[in-house]
Amino acid sequence: MQPETEWTVGTLLDWTAQHFVKKGCDSPRLDAEVLLAHALRLKRIDLYARYNEVIQEEERAIFRDLVRRRGDGCPVAYLVASKEFYSLPFFVNQDVLIPRPDTECLVDVALRIGKKENWKTILDLGTGSGCIAIALAKSLPQVKVVALDISAKALEIASRNAIANKVADRVSFVQGDLFAPLEKGLMFDAIVSNPPYIPDRDINELDKDVRDYEPRLALSGGGDGFSVFDGILSGAGAKLGAGGHLFIEIGSPQEETSRVRFKSCSEFLLHPTILDGGRNPRVLHATKIGSKP
Ligand code: GLN
Repeated sequence: MQPETEWTVGTLLDWTAQHFVKKGCDSPRLDAEVLLAHALRLKRIDLYARYNEVIQEEERAIFRDLVRRRGDGCPVAYLVASKEFYSLPFFVNQDVLIPRPDTECLVDVALRIGKKENWKTILDLGTGSGCIAIALAKSLPQVKVVALDISAKALEIASRNAIANKVADRVSFVQGDLFAPLEKGLMFDAIVSNPPYIPDRDINELDKDVRDYEPRLALSGGGDGFSVFDGILSGAGAKLGAGGHLFIEIGSPQEETSRVRFKSCSEFLLHPTILDGGRNPRVLHATKIGSKP
């Protein structure tokens, strides 16, 4: 940025958006706006009321640093330490996957059924930032959620998010590998999960922003992408009563293979795949077979 230019909100946004285009960012203007709003401690919408305001060097230095890191590939959510999911704010850092809008379809369907059936207990496997567990707890005031993750660092973030979203009294956090840490008799009305599902061979093909910044532990589903999925499928039946629900997020190209895996498991009745906002197959839904008591 040349020293002789008087930098206003407007000129900073224009310059930065162009810079991000050159850097190959998917949403250059939006990224510029979110980062400038963050540097100036404003809401994004307020940038436009101050479009012609001159920005002083001190704030520009903060913004410049954010722009440089974004240009290197760091996701905006990590730079501003926050991401909205299901209209709720989530604190994020590189210990957790950034909540994706694609995952909201899981919450939509689970909420619809959970309200109708008046669920009391939900298990969230691989909770990460806690986004699914917390969004469900927020909209189902009668429900208690057990949110589990293998990463202690992720659980610290999730617990902070539960407090910030005022559901900490109904979400408990457990560290461990899938079902291993859960008491034997503990049963749930529903199990939800967005497990790591990227096959090892695809990890290097991911966007640099994802591959180099998001936690590998939250992305890698092993050789074929199904290692955690298979663990969930083999243990979920023992934790659900008859009619209990299981929701698992999948990668779109995995739909067929994942449905076949379910069909060879006689404990579950598999329902139609839930599509995300982009109409891609995103979540498998199944119910435990057996007559209700
Ligand atoms: N949907 C994420 C991505 O494609 C991956 C999430 C996951 O592995 N659970 O980047």
